[in-house]
Amino acid sequence: MSHYIAMIAPDLESAIASLRDLIEGARAIVPFTGAGISTECGIPDFRSPGGLWSKNQPIPFDAFMTSREMRNEAWRRRFVMQESFAKAKPGRGHRALASLYRAGKVPALVTQNIDNLHQDSGIPPDDVVELHGNTTYATCLECAQRYELPWVKEQFDANGQHVPDCRCGGFIKTATVSFGQSMPADAMQRAEQLSKSCDLFLAVGSSLVVWPAAGFPLMAKRNGAALVIINREPTEFDELADLVVRNDIGDSLAPFIDL
Ligand code: NAD
Repeated sequence: MSHYIAMIAPDLESAIASLRDLIEGARAIVPFTGAGISTECGIPDFRSPGGLWSKNQPIPFDAFMTSREMRNEAWRRRFVMQESFAKAKPGRGHRALASLYRAGKVPALVTQNIDNLHQDSGIPPDDVVELHGNTTYATCLECAQRYELPWVKEQFDANGQHVPDCRCGGFIKTATVSFGQSMPADAMQRAEQLSKSCDLFLAVGSSLVVWPAAGFPLMAKRNGAALVIINREPTEFDELADLVVRNDIGDSLAPFIDL
């Protein structure tokens, strides 16, 4: 394996200049986003201090499937977050990536996020590849019937904080992928194809520790793409990257809005 020497941008100004060079020279850019792109929109990430994990450990899929109390707890937590999700608007990072999409530089975007903010920024839903699903609606795990959250909340409150089941008897869950739940095959396949065919891969706001999603930056790098990591904390892949930007995402990407 060849050895790369990561270039950590010394300051914001040089980070933006290096980003601009890479973006201008790229034919196909694949952004890969994590929770860090949405923190400025009021949605906490998992692993920053004060992030969601400092409050609650996630509920694994088998616990959701085997315990009604866990299903009720999962929904209680979801409703607590509803105010933040409902009022969140795309941030500077989302808007910059949408601008690159409109400029024809980005064929599609891969996200670990579940907040729908890339779609809200104007990228057509078909070109937002969601690896971990979407929390802004729910589905039945048996028959895939879609349910809207206000209806679930109404039933939850009317039934003494018990989540309703689907008409078919299946469990209703936000359309997200929990730990232990299988990954969506179509999204995984599309993300693989995008990672292998791009020449610039932008990992934005991800701690890059959640697998298998974290495999895509590696796949892109191994297939010849330049790898950029924008994250305020170090990640395990920094030494593989061609450029590491340890600045705020909004500040780093704002110059690329409406370019
Ligand atoms: P993570 O919480 O593991 O990592 C987020 C990273 O972003 C951290 O390393 C943090 O230092 C960095 N960061 C936060 N704000 C930043 C900013 N303004 N500028 C620069 N860096 C910033 O997130 P992950 O890697 O996406 O993994 C968490 C999982 O949790 C994902 O799979 C996702 O499905 C889910 N999640 C999603 C949301 C969302 O949809 N917004 C929120 C929380 C968790």
